[in-house]
Amino acid sequence: MAPGRTYDEQRFSPLAQINAGNVQRLGLAWYADINTERGMEASPLAIDGVLYNVQPWNLVTAYDGKTGKVLWTYDPEVPLRFGRLACCDIVSRGLAAWKGKIYVATLGGRLIALDAATGKPVWSVLTVDNSKSYTITGAPRVFDGKVLIGNGGAEMGVRGYVTAYDAETGRQIWRWHTVPGNPADGFENAAMELAAKTWTGEWWTAGGGGTVWDSVSYDPALNLVYVGVGNGSPWARDWRSAGGGDNLFLASIVALDADTGDYRWHYQTTPGEEWDYTATQQMILADLQIGGRTRKVLMQAPKNGFFYVLDRETGELISAEMFAPINWASGIDKATGRPIENPAVRYGTTPVLVSPGAGGAHNWNPMAYSPLTHLVYLPVTETYMGYAKAESFDPAKGGLGTSFTGFEAERDAITRYADAHSRGWLSAWDPVRQREAWRVPSPQKGSGGVLATAGNLVFEGTIGQTFAAYRADTGEKLWEMPVQQVPIAAPITYTVDGEQYIAVNAGWGGGLAHVERSAYTQLFLSKPRLLVFKLGGTAKLPPMPAASMQVPELSPPPAPNGTAEQVSRGEQLYAANCALCHGVAARGGVKDLRHMAPETHEAFLDIVLRGARARNGMASFADVLTPAEAEAIHHYLIARANADWDSR
Ligand code: CA
Repeated sequence: MAPGRTYDEQRFSPLAQINAGNVQRLGLAWYADINTERGMEASPLAIDGVLYNVQPWNLVTAYDGKTGKVLWTYDPEVPLRFGRLACCDIVSRGLAAWKGKIYVATLGGRLIALDAATGKPVWSVLTVDNSKSYTITGAPRVFDGKVLIGNGGAEMGVRGYVTAYDAETGRQIWRWHTVPGNPADGFENAAMELAAKTWTGEWWTAGGGGTVWDSVSYDPALNLVYVGVGNGSPWARDWRSAGGGDNLFLASIVALDADTGDYRWHYQTTPGEEWDYTATQQMILADLQIGGRTRKVLMQAPKNGFFYVLDRETGELISAEMFAPINWASGIDKATGRPIENPAVRYGTTPVLVSPGAGGAHNWNPMAYSPLTHLVYLPVTETYMGYAKAESFDPAKGGLGTSFTGFEAERDAITRYADAHSRGWLSAWDPVRQREAWRVPSPQKGSGGVLATAGNLVFEGTIGQTFAAYRADTGEKLWEMPVQQVPIAAPITYTVDGEQYIAVNAGWGGGLAHVERSAYTQLFLSKPRLLVFKLGGTAKLPPMPAASMQVPELSPPPAPNGTAEQVSRGEQLYAANCALCHGVAARGGVKDLRHMAPETHEAFLDIVLRGARARNGMASFADVLTPAEAEAIHHYLIARANADWDSR
C-alpha cells in the first residue's frame, strides 16, 4: 500500500506463485489505455483487490485489480501553466494510502486526500508558494497518521523543504527546510544555523535548491524519517555560494525525528554539488551482516555513481564504491566520508566533460533489494555531459546558471563523445561486498525501474520496448514480452482471489526523454498503458499504429535570417529557458523545435509570448522574455535547424 511496498522501500514482494519455474507462462491479463503522451513514472498501489494509479497532470484512477474495470477517476484539474515549471516532464511518481484515503500530490503543489471508495476529495492543502517555481512530481509517504510531501524546482531557484500533515485533516504538523534562508530573518532551527556556516555570499537570493523531489523512507523502530535532498540552485556553485563551501544539506541524506521533524543526522554525498547530483534517489532500509554483526543500514545509489551503505541509526558511512564508470571523483575517503574529487570537473565558462551527467548513473527509476539473495537490483546508466557557467546568467531572473553547451566546437565534441559512450544495464549489486554480482547489458540506456520477488525473479521494463523477467540469483533471462512501449516505471505485484498479478505502467517520457529524445527517434511507440500480467494470461494488445503516424515530418527550415549576435544571444536564452523541455542544443525534447512546421514559425511569438498553445502545456513566457529576446531564440532555432538540415 506504499510506493516501495513497505516503509523500508525494498520493492521486494514475498509472493512466489509466479516464480522462476513457471514465469514462461506469464501472459497479459488485462490492460488499460492511458490518455497521455508524457512519461508514466508511477508504481500503482494495490489494496484489497483495487489498483490505484496516477498519470501525468495527476489524474488518479481506481481499477478492479482482477478485471481492469474502472471504478472511479479523479482529475485535480491542475492549471496547465505549471507544466512550464517542471524540469523533467509533468510526471507523477505515485500515490500514498492510509485508513480509507488515497493521497495525491499535484504538479501545482497541492496535497489532496481522496476517499478510496469513491475518489471524492476529503481535504486539500496547498503545500507551496505558487509565486515561486515549485512543482511536485514525487509520491507522498504516509506513516503513523502523517502524510509527508516534498517538492521540486531546484532548476528554477527555489528553497527545498518537506512538510508533514495530519492524514485525517490536512493540518500541518511540521516543516523542515533543507537549506538555510536569509540569516537576517533568523534561522528556523539549529540545523539551519549549522548549515549556514557552509554557505557564502547571499545564497538565499537564488533559493539555494535542495528539493526533496522523490525519495523518503521511514524506520518505525527508530522513529526516524529519511529524506533524500536534491541539487543546488543555481547549478554552478559560484553563482549561489560565491566563496565556495559544502552547501549543506544539498545532495545529502538527512534523518529527521518522525514526530517533530527535528534534525538527527546527515550524510552529504556530494559536498559543494554543482552537477545536478541529487541524493533524492531511493533509500532502501535493510539489516545486513557486515563484519560479523547485524547492521541496520540505509542504502542509496544516487546520481553521482557511488553505492552508499550507511548506518541508519547514526549516519556513519559503512562503505561506498563506484557502481558505474565516472570521472568526477576517484573514490570516497573512508576516514572523512568525503569524495576524492577530480579538480578538473569544477567548471568555469569553458565546457568540461563530466561523468555522470545530470541524468545520473542512477536516477529516480526504482531499485529493489531481495532479502533472499541479499542483492540490490538497479538500472544503471553511463552518461556524460558538458558543463559550463552561463556567461550571461542573471541570478535575478532565476534558472540554472549553467550552460550545457558553451562554444560550438566543444559542444559538438562533447555531444559526439557522450552519444558514443552512453550505455545502460541492469546491475545486481552485492551491498556487503560492494561489488556487482551480475549484469544484463541493454542496447542503450533508458530501461526502467525494478521489482524483486520471492519467486527468485526480477522484473524490469526495457528500452527494447519489452517487459522482462530475470532469475534473481543469476540474471538469466527467463521471459520477455514485446509491449509496444518502454516501461520506465517500476512494476508491482499483488494477489486477488488467490491469483498473483504483476502490474506496470508502460509510458516513455520523463527527464531522459525530455533532454535526449533525439537519441531515441527510432522508438516507435503506442499510447501509454497500464499492463497487468498473470500466469496463463491471454489478453492481446491491439496492433501498433502505423509508423508513419509516429515519425515526425521533417520540413526544410526557413532560411537563416538573424544576425550572428541575435543567434548567439538566442542560444544563451534557449539554454536558460527552453532546453530543459526542448532538449540540449534543441535536439529532441517534448517537441523537437528544429522540425517546426511553417505555421509554427509563423505563430512563434504568439506561442512564446501570448500562450497560443497553452492547452498543449506550452505556457506563455511573457513574464521572463522580451519580444526581442523571443525573436533571438527564434533566430537561434532557425540557425540550428539549418545546420542540422544541411548535415542530415
Ligand atoms: Ca535537478
